[in-house]
Amino acid sequence: MILRKTPDELDKIAAAGDILIRCHEILKAKARPGVTTKQLDEAAERFIRSQGAEPAFKGYRGFPGSICASPNSMVVHGIPGPYALRRGDLLSIDIGVVLDGWVADAAITHPIGTVTPVATKLLSATRQSLFDAVEQCRPGNRLGDVSHAVQQRVESEGFSVIRSLVGHGIGRDMHEDPQIPNFGDPGTGPELEEGMVLAIEPMVNAGNHQVRMGSDNWAVYSQDGSLTAHFEFTVAITAEGPRILTPWHLSAADRAPAAPQAASRA
Ligand code: MG
Repeated sequence: MILRKTPDELDKIAAAGDILIRCHEILKAKARPGVTTKQLDEAAERFIRSQGAEPAFKGYRGFPGSICASPNSMVVHGIPGPYALRRGDLLSIDIGVVLDGWVADAAITHPIGTVTPVATKLLSATRQSLFDAVEQCRPGNRLGDVSHAVQQRVESEGFSVIRSLVGHGIGRDMHEDPQIPNFGDPGTGPELEEGMVLAIEPMVNAGNHQVRMGSDNWAVYSQDGSLTAHFEFTVAITAEGPRILTPWHLSAADRAPAAPQAASRA
C-alpha cells in the first residue's frame, strides 16, 4: 500500500530534506584528494545532529555509518572507512536524515578533481535520468512512466541500469511501498496520486548491469569493475507538479522562500 502524505507532512519531509542538502554541500566541499570517507562520515553526523536531526542510516540493520560513501566501481552502501579519495575518483555520497519522525533520502555522485571523459558522461547521463524521472511525477501518470524515463535516458547514452537495486516510497519509514525500479514500461504499474512521496535513485554502471556483493555484506559493486554513478531525490507528487523535497541542485539563494512581491500600485 502506498501511503499518501498531507501538505503539512510534505513540509516536514522537506525540513528534513533541507538539513540533508546542507549536509551534502558540506561534504561536497570536503571531498578532496587525501580525505577519507570516514572523515566525511564524521562531519556528516556532527552536522546532522547539530541541527536536532538524526542520520537515518546509522544503525539501520546494523549499518555503522551516518552516510554511504561508495567510490568508483562501488555502486551503493559503502561503509565509510580509511579509504582516502584520489584525484580522478567518482564518489557517491548517500545521506538519510530523520527530523521529527519524517525521513528524507538523497544521493549525489561527485567527481574528485578531473575525471575521464567517460566518467563525466556517466555522471551527466545518470543525473539527467533522475530529472527525466522527476518530470514524470505527476498525478495520473504511472510508476512505469518514472522507471521508463530513467531507463530510456541511461540506455540512450550507452550505459546500463542496475536491475537488482531499486528506489522506494518514503515517509515515516525510510523504505515504504512502492519499490521503484530504474527500468520498466510506460503506462504500467500503480497510478501516481497526490501526496505520494518517492525516493527515486538511478544507479547506473558504465559497463553491463550486473552487480556483486562485497565481502562486508553491505557494499555493492559493478561485477565487471566498471565505474558507477548514483543520484537520488526525495520527490512528492502534488497537483502543481513534482515537488523535490531534497533540492540539492539548487543554490541556497534559489532555495530561499520567494521574497514577497512588491504590492502593485493602482
Ligand atoms: Mg534511497
